[in-house]
Amino acid sequence: MTEPVAAEVGRDFIRDIIQADLDQGKYREIVTRFPPEPNGYLHIGHAKSIALNFGIAQEFPGRCHLRFDDTNPVKEEQEYIDSIQADVRWLGFDWGKNLFFASDYFERLYEWAEQLIRDGLAYVDDQTQEEIRLARGTLTEPGKNSPFRDRSVDENLDLFRRMKAGEFPNGTRVLRAKIDMAAGNINLRDPVLYRILHAHHPRTGTKWHIYPSYDYAHGQSDAIEGITHSICTLEFEDHRPLYDWFIEKLPVPSQPHQYEFARLNLTYTLLSKRVLTQLVRDGHVAGWDDPRMPTMAGMRRRGVPPAALREFVKRIGVAKANSVVDVGMLEFCIREELNRTSQRRMGVLRPLKVVIENYPEGQTEELEAINHPDDPSAGTRKITFGRELYIEQDDFMENPPKKFFRLSPGNEVRLRYAYFVKCTGVIKNDKGEVVELRCTYDPATKGGNAPDGRKVKATMHWLPAANSVPAEIRIYNQLFANPSPDASNFAADLNPQSLEILADARIEASVAQSNSTEPMQFERQGYFVRDKDSTPGKPVFSRTIGLRDTFAKEVAKG
Ligand code: ATP
Ligand code: MG
Repeated sequence: MTEPVAAEVGRDFIRDIIQADLDQGKYREIVTRFPPEPNGYLHIGHAKSIALNFGIAQEFPGRCHLRFDDTNPVKEEQEYIDSIQADVRWLGFDWGKNLFFASDYFERLYEWAEQLIRDGLAYVDDQTQEEIRLARGTLTEPGKNSPFRDRSVDENLDLFRRMKAGEFPNGTRVLRAKIDMAAGNINLRDPVLYRILHAHHPRTGTKWHIYPSYDYAHGQSDAIEGITHSICTLEFEDHRPLYDWFIEKLPVPSQPHQYEFARLNLTYTLLSKRVLTQLVRDGHVAGWDDPRMPTMAGMRRRGVPPAALREFVKRIGVAKANSVVDVGMLEFCIREELNRTSQRRMGVLRPLKVVIENYPEGQTEELEAINHPDDPSAGTRKITFGRELYIEQDDFMENPPKKFFRLSPGNEVRLRYAYFVKCTGVIKNDKGEVVELRCTYDPATKGGNAPDGRKVKATMHWLPAANSVPAEIRIYNQLFANPSPDASNFAADLNPQSLEILADARIEASVAQSNSTEPMQFERQGYFVRDKDSTPGKPVFSRTIGLRDTFAKEVAKG
């Protein structure tokens, strides 16, 4: 059991309910669970649910279970079970000994289904899936009773046992609850409890030929585990009467109460496992951990710190009404965290060579650079200055407009941690493109200040040609170009510019040599992290996020 800590009351309606339940002495401890179906990787929407369920268990006396709702073996895989556990841990939560699987309860769920049959509350239906669907009725029309609805208990038991024994092919029969085909709530119109499925299950192998429906398994699994507050998203609100029906009819060991909250929706993002699975399967992205994916694996690979995700879900809160959160809010949280925690380095994304004509050939010198402007304990490092350097192509203009203060012919700028330099000449290729600059430096400005007090208007990052290393830098933009992508036709909304590869970038040699997977800031460019695609010869860095919210501004400009 987690050590109880003082609960902060009134932060959201669910915590209010829990506090009231505790005040009334209804429970001695609160038990929640995060119940993923292992049919895909977790996404940032799940992070909201994880932080809520595990957060409650930390704030109140209680515990949170990790339970896999593994009732559909056709879509479920061990890979997903493993990734989900890794992602919950990465986000910073721990289920301790409380790891469970709905498949652990298959035997008990089966016995309870037999009991429903014996009590006249369930029957085997031989109709096809299509016939069942057509007879279900609509929101305005009642459904029609199945011709098999009044089978005898003995016949039902016999057929259900033979379904279990594997006698019948897939889809030929189902077990249904006998509730009310005219119920206003369609979920109560004789829902399916079991279907025949000859499929290999990641945990129970080939033992079972029938599998419980999610609706039948979910609430009973909660009851078996003694879940007090069964927290889920709003789409299950209409299922609650059915869950309560099961709890009332079956000899379950406890009575969980379900509370629904609004799922997370984000602009420029689709958070549906169906869509995410298709993005991977159809090759729109490089995998579940593609840094453009809203999955935790993708965000981890992209360098998003878990603390930023925790802060994000804290800020958005928990409400009862659906809404869409601006992705800018997530980006803000990522920037804040990275600004605080990441060391500064220099990287040149699109290099332009500079030769300092008055710097002696063959000479170099070590200059001191600080690792974090707000954190002296992060220390300093040496960077090597020499005759040949690289600057950013964008930082030079041959014919600059009035307000361009960076490098241009005759103009003087500061090179960060180094000297003032002035552009004296431009070398072009056959096509007329600038390929190299000639500059002079002022030796009296070492460290970046002039003794005569003269000022420059720009400070630019740079790298030494000899002591920097070529790297590939990947710049990611939103995966979708549409702020509210269409889930049913998402391919049309994909952003063709979601990945830009800068194959000829350069980074500090020490950055290239380090295998650190901590994100760092490349000054003036953003936050970057080493990618697993790096090879000994060519490091690959992904941009986690830029320094400023340029995207929102571009969108606003239209
Ligand atoms: P899909 O994204 O395809 O809808 P799912 O929600 O069915 O997937 P589950 O594995 O069933 O995925 O989800 C586990 C838990 O996470 C559930 O309790 C679900 O309500 C919650 N959850 C899923 N998506 C979100 C979301 N966007 N915001 C908040 N909670 C979510
Ligand atoms: Mg679900």
